[in-house]
Amino acid sequence: MSILKALWPQRTAGAEPSAPADQGGSAPAAAAPAGAEPPGPFRTLVESLPDPVLVIEGDPDEPASRRIVFANAAARLLFPIRVEGARLVTAVRNPEVLEAVDEALLGVAGQALMETGGAQERVWTAQTRPLGRGQAGPLALLTLRDETDVRRAERMRVDFLANASHELRTPLASLSGFIETLRGHARDDVGAREKFLGIMQAQAERMARLIDDLLSLSRIELNEHIAPEGRLDLSLAATDVLDALVPLIREKELVVTTDFPLRGVADVDGDRDQILQVIQNLVENAIKYSARGGTLSLAVSAPVADVSAAAPANPAAARTTLLAPDRPQGRRYALLRVTDAGPGIPRDRLPRLTERFYRVEGQKSGGERAGTGLGLAIVKHIANRHRGGMAVESAEGQGASFTVWLPLAEKGAAE
Ligand code: ADP
Repeated sequence: MSILKALWPQRTAGAEPSAPADQGGSAPAAAAPAGAEPPGPFRTLVESLPDPVLVIEGDPDEPASRRIVFANAAARLLFPIRVEGARLVTAVRNPEVLEAVDEALLGVAGQALMETGGAQERVWTAQTRPLGRGQAGPLALLTLRDETDVRRAERMRVDFLANASHELRTPLASLSGFIETLRGHARDDVGAREKFLGIMQAQAERMARLIDDLLSLSRIELNEHIAPEGRLDLSLAATDVLDALVPLIREKELVVTTDFPLRGVADVDGDRDQILQVIQNLVENAIKYSARGGTLSLAVSAPVADVSAAAPANPAAARTTLLAPDRPQGRRYALLRVTDAGPGIPRDRLPRLTERFYRVEGQKSGGERAGTGLGLAIVKHIANRHRGGMAVESAEGQGASFTVWLPLAEKGAAE
C-alpha cells in the first residue's frame, strides 16, 4: 500500500524506495502534531482534510499498546493528542472504536459509532482498515466522519412521517367507523345518518386541511433558500386578509381594531401569497382561540429595528423569540402584530409553538375547526425565507400576541 509512502515520502524513499508499505517497507515516524520535516504534498493534503484521520501502530510485543503515529489537524482538534507516538487509549476512550482499531491491526477492516458529549453532542462513524506494516508493528488507518447533521435530518424525517401518518390516521379511522355503523345497525335510522354524515364531513375536511398544510409546508421549504420576488404593502395585505375573514369574525361576534400606517410606509419585498398566508394563519388562530364576543387587534408599524431582544409589551406576559432574523444589523423592518384576548399560552409552551403538529394540550379552539398544528410552522418558514423574525407574547388567561417583522423594501426600487 502506498498511502504511507505518500504521507511520509522523506523517510520511506531513502530506506526502501520500492517496497510497498503493506510489505513492511514504510516507516511512518512522523506523528502529530506535525513534525519538523518539510511536509510532502500528500501529507499536506491529509493534514488539511476536514475529517479526522489517524494512523495507529500496534506493537507485537505488547498487544495492548497502540500508538498514534499520525493524526491530521481535524483529529488533533477532536482528540487530546499531546505527544508524538502517544498511546491511542489516552486520546480515544470509546471501547468500540478501540476494538475496531485492534481488528484492523489484525488485518480486518471495521466500523464503529462514537458519540462525543459536551455542550454540543455529536455522532461520528469511525472506519478502520489495515494499512500494512510500520517500523515497530502493524498499522491501521482510523478515519472519522461527523454524522450528526445527517442523523438529525433522518430523525426529523422519520418523526415527521410518523406524525403525519398519525394525524391522518385518526380522522380516517373515525370515517371507517362511521361507514361501518351506517351500513350496519344505523342503516335505517334517518336521524343518526344525518348526524354521522355531518361528523364524517368534518373529518374529511380536516384531512383535506392537513394535506393542504403539509403541501404548503413542503413547497415553502423547497424554496426557502431562494429570495422571494415581488413587493407589497403589509397594511394593504392585512386589510385584504381581514376582509376575507369577515364571515368568521361575524360568526364569533368579535370586535376588531386595526392600527395601520399610511399607504407605502410598510412596503416589503416579498412573495404576496406567502405573506397573505402568514397574516391569515395568525388572524385565523386569533379568531379560533377567542371566546365569542372577544376582542382582536391587528397593527402594522414601520420602520422598526429588529425586535428579537425586545421586552414584552405587557409586563405580566412572557415573550419568546421564535425566529431571529439573519444579519439584522442596521436593517429596518415592517412589523405586524396580531393580538387576541383568548386563553393565552402557558409560558413553558411558548418555545414549542412552531414545532410541526404541536398543539397546546387542553386548549379549546371553539371546536368548529380543530387545528392541524402546522399553521405557525408555516408562518416561521415563510418569515425565515423573507429574512424576517417572529415572536410570541402571552400571559395565561390574558390572550396572546404574535409579532412578525419583515425587512422593509429598499426605497426607490421599481414598484
Ligand atoms: P393549529 O392549527 O393547531 O392552530 P398552529 O401551528 O397555528 O396550529 O398553532 C399551534 C398551537 O399553538 C395551537 O394548537 C394552539 O394550541 C396554540 N396557539 C396558536 N395560536 C394561539 C392563540 N392565538 N391563542 C392561544 N393559543 C394559540
